[in-house]
Amino acid sequence: MPGLPPDVSKAVQDAALAIADLCHRTGATQLEVGYLHDDVPNSKAGWYAHAQFRGVRVIYESSVGPIDACDGLARHLLEGGGCTHCDRRITLLSSGRSRRCRYRRIGSRWERSCD
Ligand SMILES: [Zn+2]
Repeated sequence: MPGLPPDVSKAVQDAALAIADLCHRTGATQLEVGYLHDDVPNSKAGWYAHAQFRGVRVIYESSVGPIDACDGLARHLLEGGGCTHCDRRITLLSSGRSRRCRYRRIGSRWERSCD
């Protein structure tokens, strides 16, 4: 994995490490996180994250910033998929009665509820 620039905040590092780890775990490749416009606020920079997943390019474009771009791509990769650990469908919602396996990001890693 290419290194991150030294001036990136811990919160952005965590989101970037989490999506990189998730791509590795799901088999997604060619992860790229970036922005289109310099010298503007994050909300106008055109942040995006994309990866190749099962032959399809999955893209998430954020009007918020880099953390949202990373987490948005992760949600796209996870939602509706199956947990490889417990075989249940994955959900990102915190419904108490869900029979699905809930994934949520804790720091630099997406964690599953069946652990
Ligand atoms: Zn699970």
